[in-house]
Amino acid sequence: MHSNSNYQAPQSPILLMARRAAELRAAGQDIVDLTLGEPDFDAPEYVLEAARNALQERLGYTPANGLPALRLAIRRRLEIDRGLHYLDDQIAVGCGAKQIIFNAFTATLQAGDGVLVPAPYWASYPDMIRMCGASPIILPTTSAEGFRVTAEHLSSALRSAKSPRWLVLNAPGNPSGALYSERELEALALVLRDYPGVMILSDDIYAEVRYTDKPYATLAAVAPDLSERILLVDGVSKAYAMTGWRVGWGCGPRELIAAITSVQSQNCTQTSTLSQLATIAALDGPRDFLRERNEIYRQRRDAALEILRACTLLEVSCPEGAFYLLPRIRGIKDDQALALDLLKAGVATVPGSAFGMSGHLRLSFATEQANLVEGCRRLVTALGYAQ
Ligand code: PLP
Repeated sequence: MHSNSNYQAPQSPILLMARRAAELRAAGQDIVDLTLGEPDFDAPEYVLEAARNALQERLGYTPANGLPALRLAIRRRLEIDRGLHYLDDQIAVGCGAKQIIFNAFTATLQAGDGVLVPAPYWASYPDMIRMCGASPIILPTTSAEGFRVTAEHLSSALRSAKSPRWLVLNAPGNPSGALYSERELEALALVLRDYPGVMILSDDIYAEVRYTDKPYATLAAVAPDLSERILLVDGVSKAYAMTGWRVGWGCGPRELIAAITSVQSQNCTQTSTLSQLATIAALDGPRDFLRERNEIYRQRRDAALEILRACTLLEVSCPEGAFYLLPRIRGIKDDQALALDLLKAGVATVPGSAFGMSGHLRLSFATEQANLVEGCRRLVTALGYAQ
């Protein structure tokens, strides 16, 4: 079980930049905010309807691992969408994917353990790992590799890691938008089979936010023999635009799920009963809106790419999923200073160093197209002046 740590996690740099942008706006400055990874859509109407109806019921405590009917709805979705079969006691529901990941690390990590985290990474992983007394082992990737960790890289990192406990895989990635193909996952699985003590966190939170018709590949489906070592994490925040409802889940081996549930039961007991009932409706309801919204995100992505790629100072890959762009700014070393300067130019972004990618900026396109286009123009204009 975990050890206590005195590590003081810094505030999320994403939230810091978003707050700075909000403060400047409140002071009357015209700021285009491209910081937050929060869909600008509403939750689907049928979900809101289900929530209104649920208010007629008595909203008492639920089991710490969630309502049985919600666990059933999650299992149904995973069977239909990803061909994965989980039993009831292999699912734990929590307050967002974030809490599930935190619970899993809390339940399994101790001082001296290492967690392999490919960069660019979601900014919370390394801090969560440190809060559990363990150390992140960062595996940098490049745009030439499509921001995906290769089997060779993983193999050499595992060979030299002292006490590796987890590997984090997140696809589509925040902030890279990168997806893994089945073949790439098979190659990673081949390496992982030689390290039976390493668990794999498969953070699939953006699985439904994709701009390709290729089927979604996830390690648990590609390498079922590893399923006893995989914690698949997902939730309603991104695809269903239900960030504030705080519902996420983890699916994996029984013992790990029991340990996650124990941690859950000792902190906030369960996530909101109302939110759980709304999530059942979300998972069981019509799904046309997912395709429609992805088409809107895709158009925004392409509009932003057109502006950014016309600037010779920027090098930017085309993300296949999630809603972020990660341009590299040629010749820039201090991306934090750059992000602060850009605030003066009226656009708020997040410095790439928050994601292990210094020299980059993250721009979220989960915002209206006109806003996004204006933000990209301001960025390009400001870089032109800075040259
Ligand atoms: N994992 C990744 C990669 C994310 O980007 C986020 C949210 O930004 C989360 C997990 C957490 O999502 P939730 O709102 O379900 O806690």
